[in-house]
Amino acid sequence: CGIIGFVGELDSGGQTDGGTTGSVGAIIHEGLRNLEYRGYDSAGVALVGASSGLTVAKRSGEVDGLTVPDVPDATHGVGHTRWSTHGPPTDANAHPHTDCVGDVAVVHNGIVENYEALKKELADHEFTSDTDTEVIPHLIEEELAAGAGGEEDGKEGDADLLAAVRRVEDRLEGSYAICAVREGDDRIVVARRGSPLVLGRGENAAFVASDVTAFLEHTRDVTYLEDGDVAALSPDGVEVFARGEPVEREIERVTWEA
Ligand code: GLU
Repeated sequence: CGIIGFVGELDSGGQTDGGTTGSVGAIIHEGLRNLEYRGYDSAGVALVGASSGLTVAKRSGEVDGLTVPDVPDATHGVGHTRWSTHGPPTDANAHPHTDCVGDVAVVHNGIVENYEALKKELADHEFTSDTDTEVIPHLIEEELAAGAGGEEDGKEGDADLLAAVRRVEDRLEGSYAICAVREGDDRIVVARRGSPLVLGRGENAAFVASDVTAFLEHTRDVTYLEDGDVAALSPDGVEVFARGEPVEREIERVTWEA
């Protein structure tokens, strides 16, 4: 249902419109509150820090009832409000969903139509939810293990989250907006097809959301992603790819008041 993500420098007041004072967790929790009007049955967050790694908290019920963990070294994170389509609104079915290794977390809006077929292929993976969404982190894990973006693609270096997400999204049928984070990686990797996703551009900070109202108090400079786009957000900026090639997407100014 609703997605919010943030990566960047904290306390960069004056650089983005409203600044990004606070902690990564607080910015994401606030973003979830801004998305509440859309309706939801569960909420959750994933925070990533250089030494703390990946921290996930999620539950069914209200955004205010969700305790966002205090992760002082968090550099980025994602949050989700869920409107169940596959699996009842339980704590286990709330997003983010993780892989078996526990170092990748994904939030997802929409429906993965072919999740049953994909789940069969992932027979040796242990699933902890009834959602269609959970195949996504497990497929990313497989691609990372296969060396996506590294040797597997004829390149030097380690497997790469961006390459893994690109490959996984080729295999998903249905409509979706997804955001993925990985321990040890300073980016948020996002993809959209059929569900909206908008990027907020600050100086040394970037946001992603299903709806601009999620981050409007921080920045009004936005980029709407197009269907099929995959993007990587880091403190250094935003890179957008279409069919694997880098593309320029316009930055627009939001002038209306929320
Ligand atoms: N299909 C997913 C689920 O049921 C995502 C639903 C949503 O868009 O919130 O968990």
